[in-house]
Amino acid sequence: MAVRGLSAVRGLSAVRPRGMRPGRAAGMGSALQPPQPSEPPQPSEPGPEPAGPATAALYVHWPYCRQHCCYCGFNKYVVPAVDEAAVRACLVRETQTLLRLGHVRSVTSVFFGGGTPSLAAPHTVAAVLEAAAAVAHLSDGAEVTLEANPGSADPERLSGFRAAGVNRLSLGVQSLDDAELRLLGREHTAAEARAAVEAARRLFPGRTSLDLMFGLPGQSLEGWARGLEAALGLCDDHLSLYQLTLERGTALEAQVRRGNLPEPPEELLADMYLSARTALAAAGFHQYEVSNFCRKGARSTHNLSYWRAEQYVGVGPGAHGRFVPWGEGGRQREARVQTPHPDTWMREVRSRGHGTRRRAVLSALEQTQEVLALGLRTEEGVTQRRWGLFSPRRSLEAVFGAPGEARELQERGWLRLNGRALRCTPAGMALLDSLLPALLCQLRRRWDAAEEEEDGGGREPR
Ligand code: SF4
Repeated sequence: MAVRGLSAVRGLSAVRPRGMRPGRAAGMGSALQPPQPSEPPQPSEPGPEPAGPATAALYVHWPYCRQHCCYCGFNKYVVPAVDEAAVRACLVRETQTLLRLGHVRSVTSVFFGGGTPSLAAPHTVAAVLEAAAAVAHLSDGAEVTLEANPGSADPERLSGFRAAGVNRLSLGVQSLDDAELRLLGREHTAAEARAAVEAARRLFPGRTSLDLMFGLPGQSLEGWARGLEAALGLCDDHLSLYQLTLERGTALEAQVRRGNLPEPPEELLADMYLSARTALAAAGFHQYEVSNFCRKGARSTHNLSYWRAEQYVGVGPGAHGRFVPWGEGGRQREARVQTPHPDTWMREVRSRGHGTRRRAVLSALEQTQEVLALGLRTEEGVTQRRWGLFSPRRSLEAVFGAPGEARELQERGWLRLNGRALRCTPAGMALLDSLLPALLCQLRRRWDAAEEEEDGGGREPR
């Protein structure tokens, strides 16, 4: 049983579900990266019409920032000047190429992430949306989210984004404490964050989300509680809470490693997370995912599509996607990563219509691993219906109902399996990173056993 040493909230640090950030597919820890072929085949022109579903969420990556935050390991670039017309033309072209290659008939939601997409001109956002709408249906009601930093979220810019078609804003507030913002290397102040939230709420009422960070070096439980209380007095109906990840190669991680800043102890991180959940529940927020809380049903439908393992197309430097390339014969599901560096990516888009750097067809087992790891992040869990789409021959009961890790986790009150879904209890959700290896292990074992049975016991041991 691999669930010793349980650690609350470790799962939180792994993921910022803000679209397909380079290097971290939304909702996925590093343990679950798909295999990458060294010499990728390139997508061909669209083939016959698909027989299957052709809806997709669309993620668009804007790779530029004004400065480097000292904790940031994302695919972002700080350059003296951006040739925005050139970037826009490439985003438009790649959007159309990839939607066509996927035979996507309907785009269900769009997310502009980064980098700092609020530095882009509203005209760029409008051009990408028009490009998507020219090759697929994009309904007026589709959720269109833009990540914005308070330093580039003045009312005029935000009005421009709204006129361009954005109807939801995700504001990277992170903290309402100036000392914490300086520690993180953020360019904005607490006063600027407050002003940005107020402007955003006026323009996007009920559809403004705030990102907050906890677990900063030196942050106390009381300090975090005070910050959260201040945010609750300011926020709209959606909050995302992220434990700070000390990414190797970042300035903050180096400071902690050298002992210049203290590393927050795990128990404190767990207390911060659990106390935040209590405070948010008291304020009427409902937890619908490990890091995400909403009131009045204000869930992010775009992020839900990642956690539900639906198809998504990632456009822009370093974007990730999960793609069903029907035009090439209807393979089930493929992981795609776009070329990370913007200049190289632009050259590739100009020469062949897209900048796909890596493609990997996921095996049936890898697909179910994704479905499990992503679905368990949500309150709805892995539904029987969704599991059946990816694993028609091996039911949830067949894999997780027999004696083993999942049964033991159920007995401890961390997991539920019933006719509707396999899901974490609220207590289990806080421990997800510790529970997941055991469940993945059970899945692998049962999968191998079933394959052996199907092959009449003649398979080579792995
Ligand atoms: S604004 Fe966001 S993407 Fe840019 S450096 Fe800061 S954390 Fe990274």
